[in-house]
Amino acid sequence: MKPINQTIAHLKPSGIRKYFDLANSMEGVISLGVGEPDFDTPWHISAKAVESFEDGHTHYTANRGLIALRKQIAGYYHSRYGIDYDPQSEILVTVGGSEAVDLCCRTLISPGDEVIVLDPNYVAYEPAILMAGGVPVRIELTQDNDFKLLPEDLERAINDHTKAIILNFPSNPTGGVMTREDYERVVPILKESGIYVISDEIYSELLFEGEFCSPANFEQIRDQVLVINGFSKAFAMTGWRLGYLLSNADLSQQLTKVHQFVIMSAPTSAQYAAIEALEHGIADTESMRREYESRRNLICARLNRMGLTTNVPKGTFYVFTNITSSGLTSDEFCVRLLEEHKVAIVPGTAFGDSGEGFVRISYATSMENIKEACSRIEAFLESLHLPSESVDSHHGSHS
Ligand code: PMP
Repeated sequence: MKPINQTIAHLKPSGIRKYFDLANSMEGVISLGVGEPDFDTPWHISAKAVESFEDGHTHYTANRGLIALRKQIAGYYHSRYGIDYDPQSEILVTVGGSEAVDLCCRTLISPGDEVIVLDPNYVAYEPAILMAGGVPVRIELTQDNDFKLLPEDLERAINDHTKAIILNFPSNPTGGVMTREDYERVVPILKESGIYVISDEIYSELLFEGEFCSPANFEQIRDQVLVINGFSKAFAMTGWRLGYLLSNADLSQQLTKVHQFVIMSAPTSAQYAAIEALEHGIADTESMRREYESRRNLICARLNRMGLTTNVPKGTFYVFTNITSSGLTSDEFCVRLLEEHKVAIVPGTAFGDSGEGFVRISYATSMENIKEACSRIEAFLESLHLPSESVDSHHGSHS
């Protein structure tokens, strides 16, 4: 047979999958590996999809999505984050944030263009860049800097071949956040270079401290920024497959061409549900956020007490825990924890090379599961018979 596209042939499957397959083949496993809310979609949101079927809304919508939904999205970004987008020309409704990532890459990248990603980063970015013919260039983030992007690192990574950077704050997997002050230090560099800024804001509602800030909040680079957001995390709607992409009108028109030929329009029933989510669902989001916050507090306290240094994440439902005190690699730690104590978590290396020495633990699960999983992790560490100073020296919580 003739060879398939070699870029695809050489793509590595997601490093998360292996653990799910292993966990699924075992009984009694507690999974702290998942990347989705454990809550079901609030029923008043689902009910609007049911209603849409009853009303016969079973056809395509406009390519960009229902205008009523685009108006809701515009109103939401205006009132919640102080950023204005025109529902007619600057908003595109997509099949999840996932489609939006792919659309950005395919629309912006010409073969050989460099695209900067932060390491560790969300698993879909580098494959999307590669599939579009681009070259990912990584900037390493560190626990000591709370996994933020630093201006000197950004400056060093940009050259004449750089087309774009992909940012994701609050971040999967680190839970790191960029504040307004943090952005103020990198925005002049972004402005000067003129590169596109793809800002994946899918966790914008899951922020526990301070105010959410987007690079699009900075008027001087607003037209360079492509904002990705969606309904999966904020409204517990992962299965609905709905997201959106905000950008200046010229870019939006180009993005819409790709969407038009590949997708046509996002699922109609999901769009009706999403209107309800934005109109009446914010209170649900707030109660889910409070619950995530209590779980975060519990899990961070327990992990730090066991000697696994864990920065308290300011957003998302993940902690990125330093496991070097165990003397194991990330992969060894995760495989042994799963096989010997039946807790599934994900090695930091699934998100990039600088994830070595870390594991990602999701707390999108019940308090009861979190407590039991922590006890099992503790038992696992005890079984390793670590010298006491290797644990003690890592005591104390990083903020
Ligand atoms: N971006 C990030 C950072 C994510 O964590 C996810 C989901 N895990 C997505 C995008 C995709 O989300 P969806 O396609 O469900 O909107």
